[in-house]
Amino acid sequence: MKRIGLFVLTVLAAVALRAEDAPKPKPLGYQDTPMQPNGKWHVHDGERPQPVIVTPGEQPGQAPSDAIVLFDGKDTEKWSDGKGQPSKWIVENGYMQVNGGEIQTKDKFGDIQLHIEFATPPPKGDGQGRGNSGVFLCGRYEFQVLDSFNNPTYPDGQAAAIYSQTPPLVNASRKPGEWQVYDIVFIAPRFEDGKLKSPAYVTAFHNGVLVHNKYELTGTTPHKNVGKYQPHEPSGPIKLQDHGNPMRFRNIWLRPIKNYDEQ
Ligand code: MG
Repeated sequence: MKRIGLFVLTVLAAVALRAEDAPKPKPLGYQDTPMQPNGKWHVHDGERPQPVIVTPGEQPGQAPSDAIVLFDGKDTEKWSDGKGQPSKWIVENGYMQVNGGEIQTKDKFGDIQLHIEFATPPPKGDGQGRGNSGVFLCGRYEFQVLDSFNNPTYPDGQAAAIYSQTPPLVNASRKPGEWQVYDIVFIAPRFEDGKLKSPAYVTAFHNGVLVHNKYELTGTTPHKNVGKYQPHEPSGPIKLQDHGNPMRFRNIWLRPIKNYDEQ
């Protein structure tokens, strides 16, 4: 019994000694460096919160672990016709095809990173009549979808234009029928006391090519008119336009951008 007691004491002493001698965690950074201009953190501050871990999709373009998947090729559960009825768009072969009116997400979103893929039908018609659709951000700002492969039209209405405001920086369109990608970063406008506090911004890539670099929207995106801002809540649905062309969409997901105002 005595022996056991001695053994336990020895072990406890060893553990205590080890805890005391245990090397302190190596500082990740510095606390003796100048403060950054925001006054919150030192340069290389090791106490600064680590970024949240997000697992990227296995292949480029696939939804990362924290994405909200709006369409995965199977159903249109996340969408409605905007009048309380289900989407009538055709779902087949992993895509959905325009049919019977516009659709919109049931949920609303503000600042987002949006990934959306589309294919335009075989060429028929020209200009705005060929492969026309649109992605409406916050339910009202149209990011144009069009077949702009050998299909001239007014530049502020071509593919990847902010409709009626500005053309894309370049035309990165693929041929009709080929899958194309928009990656859009949208910052919603802010309103205060019925007035614009800060405008909407769009940064976007078309098939991986930069087409907008923090473009400042001047308002909404009407046809043949200058859009203005009308106060609205800081979020809205994503709408997809039915412009009478059998457009196809697939692999749609987004990531809300959190705490944009605090950055
Ligand atoms: Mg359109």
